[in-house]
Amino acid sequence: MRIDSISLERFRNYQDQKISFDPSCNVIFGENAQGKTNLLEAIQYLSCGHSDRAKSDRELISFQEGSAVLRGGVYARERDFSIRAELYREKRRKLWVNQVPAKTASELSAVFQTVFFCPEDLLLIREGAAARRRFLDNALCQLRPRYAAALAAYRRAYAHKTRILRDSDQQPGLLDMLPEFNERLIQSGAVVIHDRAQFTKTLASCAAVNHADCSGGKETLTVSYRTVSSIPNPLAEIAVLKEQYRAHMESHRQAELSSRLCLSGPHKDDLVVEIDGRDAKTYSSQGQTRTAALALKLAEREIYKHVTGEAPLLLLDDVLSELDPRRQEFVLNRIAGGQVFITCCEDDRLPMLLGGKVFHVANGTVQESPGHA
Ligand code: ATP
Ligand code: MG
Repeated sequence: MRIDSISLERFRNYQDQKISFDPSCNVIFGENAQGKTNLLEAIQYLSCGHSDRAKSDRELISFQEGSAVLRGGVYARERDFSIRAELYREKRRKLWVNQVPAKTASELSAVFQTVFFCPEDLLLIREGAAARRRFLDNALCQLRPRYAAALAAYRRAYAHKTRILRDSDQQPGLLDMLPEFNERLIQSGAVVIHDRAQFTKTLASCAAVNHADCSGGKETLTVSYRTVSSIPNPLAEIAVLKEQYRAHMESHRQAELSSRLCLSGPHKDDLVVEIDGRDAKTYSSQGQTRTAALALKLAEREIYKHVTGEAPLLLLDDVLSELDPRRQEFVLNRIAGGQVFITCCEDDRLPMLLGGKVFHVANGTVQESPGHA
């Protein structure tokens, strides 16, 4: 799968830009604050209707403008696709695949997928559980439409329940609605738990191999999934998970009412990462946590390839300059066989050795730069 072309109108600092990409390697270089990350962000948005760094679509629209348009020409599963997204400041976005309106972003993910990798991801192990849940959710939403739907339903029910508990002090009548939202949480939450557990199982084995390779076989990485404590085996059937989740919720009923917080559910999940049997978050060196994060991100790409039969696009934002030569080599050895986008700063020469196209970005304008190839 690959993206052959992109066209951006009023997207971030791009006013009107069309670019044709190389099928294998695209290096994007330029000074700070010129639009390198914005370009990767646009590619990511077309692949899943979401940007890792934007809290809302409005941030993606150029300052002073009312709307933005992104178009991508994509080749996947031996067919051409055209993907279009229109973002508005005042109303909901619109998405199309081949001129047919798409109801949800899953329809974009069904066309092509991206794995985005930025320097903050190297801190994935050190950060709080929310960062690791985000990692799981991003990957799973692109891989499984069922997961995206269950997660959205879970989040809606969670937001309602949180409001009910919070406002029940003033309006005790709200508590009558609690059973309904608890049931919605159980129905969608059990799917979320099941799919996260399955994904983690494959992720753990791929990441262990990557980590062993990158550490020269000296270290063992183990990754496991931690969810609601009453669920001993999150790989169990969904019907079983529902009952165990329901039991947990019931045993926390009183605590939820008195704290007025939603205490039970997969919104508190985590990935437990260990190196040689010790919690990596607490005990690992910087180099070890970076290696483990690399192993996880590259495992994500391998899983997509395994599931869809085609390598997803790899978007490397400023990552190479953050890595020592051994880890750079490890990444570069693994990026073959799919389309890659690499951003780097003006004087970073390394990726120029990769072949493919080189683009220079200055103030929201991209130019192919044959001189640097
Ligand atoms: P760095 O090397 O520092 O990472 P970069 O080339 O990746 O830089 P980008 O993150 O792509 O830079 O941002 C480029 C510019 O886009 C920034 O100056 C930023 O202020 C601008 N920008 C961000 N959002 C918008 C927006 N909604 N409208 C217009 N400009 C924006
Ligand atoms: Mg950047």
